[in-house]
Amino acid sequence: MLFKEIVGQEDIKKRLIQTVRDNRISHAQLLLGPAGSGNLALAFAYAQYIFCSNKGGHDSCGECSSCLKMQKIAHPDFHFVFPVYKIKDGRETISDDLIADMREALTQNPYLELDEFLDNAGIENKQAQIYVGESASILRKLSFKAYEGEYRIIIIWKPEKMNVQAANKILKMIEEPPERTLFIMVAENTDLMLATILSRTQMVKIKKIDDASMQKALVEKFNLSPENALRITHLADGNFGTAMKMAAEGDDSTDNTQRFRDWMLACYKNNIPEMLSWSEKLASTDEGREKQKAFLAFCQNMFRKALMQTYSTPELARMTDNERSFFLKFSTFVNGNNIMEITAELDTASYHIERNAYPKLLFFDLSLKLGVFLRASQQVSVKA
Ligand SMILES: [Zn+2]
Repeated sequence: MLFKEIVGQEDIKKRLIQTVRDNRISHAQLLLGPAGSGNLALAFAYAQYIFCSNKGGHDSCGECSSCLKMQKIAHPDFHFVFPVYKIKDGRETISDDLIADMREALTQNPYLELDEFLDNAGIENKQAQIYVGESASILRKLSFKAYEGEYRIIIIWKPEKMNVQAANKILKMIEEPPERTLFIMVAENTDLMLATILSRTQMVKIKKIDDASMQKALVEKFNLSPENALRITHLADGNFGTAMKMAAEGDDSTDNTQRFRDWMLACYKNNIPEMLSWSEKLASTDEGREKQKAFLAFCQNMFRKALMQTYSTPELARMTDNERSFFLKFSTFVNGNNIMEITAELDTASYHIERNAYPKLLFFDLSLKLGVFLRASQQVSVKA
């Protein structure tokens, strides 16, 4: 992974590169950043930069033998640890058992979520942990000398999911690190990490990806129009994994915006035939439950945006022209008096769709309720 392949995060890249150039790489670091921020990709690019035998001022060379091995996640001095579940009889599964699949998945998508990977591997997410067998495996690897590089690097993804035994063993390694060994942990949330580990690592806080960088990346990588890229950027809210999925799925959000407008209009006017035909359309078989749930999530987002406009945040400036003209009118119908009820109804609907409710009735019922809330909000705000 080259730094230049990672979206945004220029400050962090500079900071990581500087530690190498100043020869003050901390032996235990924690890259802490939200999902889709590229925290794992940054750790990989950092490791590659450390190994690169011909590094430049801003990036690895991408061509030396270390770079080539790191690009395939197959450098002998590099070890990658992530949560797994016991799938083999007789012996504890460790990351190495799944490394081939992980290599392939990460090469295809450096913004991969652990959940996605585990899903594909048929592992129940809740059970995945970094078990104590993993620490034994790390210790064994560290008992050998570095093969090629000056350093050995161990990336631990999701240290939040280390069980206590594993964490204690890894803590010992961090406290008395073997020579020229670097631990880079990549986490989203420190709440579940042992305080003792946290206190011994240097934390690098990574923010969500900024809108301008994400929009630019979407235009370049997916050949989207700037307007479309901007819309996806706003929906993805700093998560490039989500943005890539939206971009790959095509222009759903335009359809959704149109569909949302038609629906809200029918609800507000209490236009029963239109509500019925709308419900029928959304419930039609080719949509599927996942798409129906995705649409309800889209609606939640639209209501949130509308609420923000009601309270005059700069959200409006970030919309496309079409969205803006619709929102200027629509947002006057969403406020503190009805947003809780609307959100709760959308959540309930999503819950019932998952549990095989009859979708046409469900959407019709939801339409009636939303119509009542929208009209009520107007009366309240007029009185106020
Ligand atoms: Zn190189």
